[in-house]
Amino acid sequence: MSVTISPKRLRREFVRKIKEISGQNLHLCYQCGMCSGICPAASNMDLPPRQIIELARLGLEEEIANSKTVWICASCLACTVNCPRGFDLSKMMEAIRLLTLRKNIDHISPEEISPEERCELPQIAMISGLRKFTG
Ligand code: SF4
Ligand code: SF4
Repeated sequence: MSVTISPKRLRREFVRKIKEISGQNLHLCYQCGMCSGICPAASNMDLPPRQIIELARLGLEEEIANSKTVWICASCLACTVNCPRGFDLSKMMEAIRLLTLRKNIDHISPEEISPEERCELPQIAMISGLRKFTG
């Protein structure tokens, strides 16, 4: 007999896991938008970092998964060091990426990288990219 888990419980569980992995209190953020303004990668994101925090707080996993933002985040820490509330957004982004990778959902397929591209890409970039984008 399969057990159906309510959407509310799934959302609560998603929030709990983000908090557990990141060690961050999502309620610290008061949505000032400083992180979105300072993020050097924001122009390439489909949702600003500030909005990802709000979606995470509400447990809206699917909405976050439909966005490229957490994968575009370069973990540069600019948001972290400038947040007036001491919220470490880069840790939250990392937690969300980890939760996706733990479901065996890779963001890139190494086999899709052509041999020519493999030769051209710096080795360190290749390794750190594979660590970030695959489980
Ligand atoms: S800078 Fe800090 S408080 Fe402001 S929106 Fe970003 S995470 Fe929230
Ligand atoms: S850590 Fe990510 S979200 Fe924060 S400023 Fe850097 S790229 Fe943007």
